Parts: sequence; C-alpha cells; structure tokens
Amino acid sequence: MEMPIVSECDVTDCAYNSDDMCHAMAITIGDSVHPKCDTYCTSVSMGVDTSCMACVGACKTTACSHNTGLECSASEISVGLKNDEIDCLTFEGR
Ligand code: SF4
Ligand code: SF4
Repeated sequence: MEMPIVSECDVTDCAYNSDDMCHAMAITIGDSVHPKCDTYCTSVSMGVDTSCMACVGACKTTACSHNTGLECSASEISVGLKNDEIDCLTFEGR
C-alpha cells in the first residue's frame, strides 16, 4: 500500500505548513471517530524542508470508509478547518 500524500493544508499557523502545503515527512490522523490532524504543532518553526511533501503515515479514524486496518487507502487527502477543528477533509463516514 502506498502512503497517501497530503495534497493541501490551509492551517497556516502550524509549524509544518508553508504555502498551504504540509512539509512533515508523515502525519497521523485521528482518534477512532474524529479525523483530526494529530501532528498539528504550533512550536516555533526552525524552518521546514519545503522539498518534503507530507504523507499520511497512520490514521486511527476507523469510522472513515477510506480506512483499512488503521491505514488510509485514499490516494491523497486534504486537511483544513472544519467546525473549528483541524480535520482531514477527505473523511467519508461509513
Ligand atoms: S496537515 Fe497537519 S501537520 Fe501538516 S501542516 Fe496541516 S495541520 Fe500541520
Ligand atoms: S481519508 Fe479517512 S482514512 Fe484517510 S486519513 Fe482521512 S480520515 Fe483517515
């Protein structure tokens, strides 16, 4: 299984964000019900490697139809604000 890429994230106050893109190597999404970005971080950034495009390393949101064995099977995801939470916007309920 290929790791899905994070194609867009508009959470600009996150230390991993530059130009609406996530530059963590891999992110973790969710608890079992809510698809929040668990990697969101507001620490002072030492500078991100903008050549690095984030992938979804793990997803714990088993309520999503893209979740197979605690991994994401979508080809890509986007992340952003939804109801004041930082969520995977590609989430689809089962
Ligand atoms: S996907 Fe998560 S870790 Fe990456 S920039 Fe957005 S909020 Fe930050
Ligand atoms: S699309 Fe679904 S399985 Fe993939 S990261 Fe988002 S919530 Fe998790």
